[in-house]
Amino acid sequence: MKKILFVTSEAHPLIKTGGLADVCGSLPKALAELSQDIKLIIPNYQALKTSENVRFICAIRVDNRNINILETRMPDSHVIVWLVDYPVYYNYPGNPYVDEHGEPWPINAERFALFCRVAVEAAMDRVHQDWKPDIVHCNDWQTGLVPAFLSLEHNRPRTLFTIHNMAYQGLFPKSTAASLNLPGKLWNPAGLEFHEMLSFIKGGLIYADYITTVSPTYALEIQTPEFGYGLEGLLDHRKEFLGGIINGIDLDQWNPETDPYITQHYTAATLNKKQLNKFELQKRFALPAYARIPLFGLIGRLVEQKGIDLILECLPELVAMDMQFILLGGGEKGFEKTLNSLAQQYPDKIAINIGYDEALAHLIEAGADIFLMPSRFEPCGLNQMYSQRYGTIPIVRKTGGLADTVVDTLPETLANQTASGIVFNEASSSSLLEAIKRAMILYSFPDIWKKMQMNAMKKDFSWQRSAEQYLALYENL
Ligand code: ADP
Repeated sequence: MKKILFVTSEAHPLIKTGGLADVCGSLPKALAELSQDIKLIIPNYQALKTSENVRFICAIRVDNRNINILETRMPDSHVIVWLVDYPVYYNYPGNPYVDEHGEPWPINAERFALFCRVAVEAAMDRVHQDWKPDIVHCNDWQTGLVPAFLSLEHNRPRTLFTIHNMAYQGLFPKSTAASLNLPGKLWNPAGLEFHEMLSFIKGGLIYADYITTVSPTYALEIQTPEFGYGLEGLLDHRKEFLGGIINGIDLDQWNPETDPYITQHYTAATLNKKQLNKFELQKRFALPAYARIPLFGLIGRLVEQKGIDLILECLPELVAMDMQFILLGGGEKGFEKTLNSLAQQYPDKIAINIGYDEALAHLIEAGADIFLMPSRFEPCGLNQMYSQRYGTIPIVRKTGGLADTVVDTLPETLANQTASGIVFNEASSSSLLEAIKRAMILYSFPDIWKKMQMNAMKKDFSWQRSAEQYLALYENL
């Protein structure tokens, strides 16, 4: 049995802004189910949703500040959670990273540097709990300084750093770095310095004993200039210590047989019932309730990464066809505006909900026929896995985790019963449009479509499989 300290800035259902939270909510639970002794550490944000008891366990002094460590549990689980309580830094309403205008909180470097320092205290058993982890598992830039600080400790635990998205690196001006009291040894171009800026993510990439990312394809892609953002050389240099483990999904939360958010439960054997969710979705979005018109769904952050611009370029041609399109998401104001005006222009075909809505996300996964995910890059991606489990066929670009989890529909993949989606190569609106047309043709053959749905629904996206791979890695460290 390993003792694991899992360090993260978000974890569902405590707090979530994206896929990172899904992973950090599920993986610790899956590891606990494999009998590992795991504790999670996270800042005590104002918006944190704790349903279990919270108790004070100790007060420590770190970087001249008085910090309280509180203890609770992940809702509905035995996984212990340590909350880093420092109201001056974490007692802000809303999102952990940005204010209500989408601007980063001005003291993010200070907030996450302190979080990393406290995680190091916990990792070194200096929080008086008589518990010293064997492994410290860090996630994304917010935790990047943990392996860096730990590298200066004697008798330290082994460290693993998981990259969920290379596009976010935690870069701050040199002047900020100076104000953080970083150990001088870490401040050089072979350390935390990146083109005269402070890079949190480099702390993970350089000092962790091993690096993983969330899909094998993305692990290769980030070693190239297109996806490495200037860190491809470093990653190539560390490639012996870099691997990809695909994320699982929470099979209890995302299960069409039991999902409390959907109108009609169904399984692969009762696929015809899926239709009722489509009608409900059409009703909620005030679209005409047609059964046989393909309904396209999209849920996600409205940013260039997700290929939203490609969809916008396609929509004028799409509305000429028999189709409906529903989108739930929020992000760049320009995208939001264009989408809203298209919805007003084509009220029978396009419906947009700007915002974040967990329940509605489930209904879209259940009610749509086709899920759109034309990402420019996608470290792993979760929605394409959710949609396959709901028999909603994904259209994805062949990149990162999308390439690793969706099998294109071709004569041979139909024959060997693996076809589970539509995959296209190039990040262009014409390639996307071609894929959409291909999907519409396949949709018009109900027998073939049903086969694709059955293939998709029977795939194993369980966390157990991924957790076993992480465990094997911990054992090798
Ligand atoms: P990323 O982490 O890049 O945002 P992923 O596909 O890995 O993308 O994970 C996104 C997660 O966030 C999924 O669980 C998705 O359902 C959820 N999500 C994103 N936007 C919304 C939204 N507007 N409403 C509800 N859930 C959302």
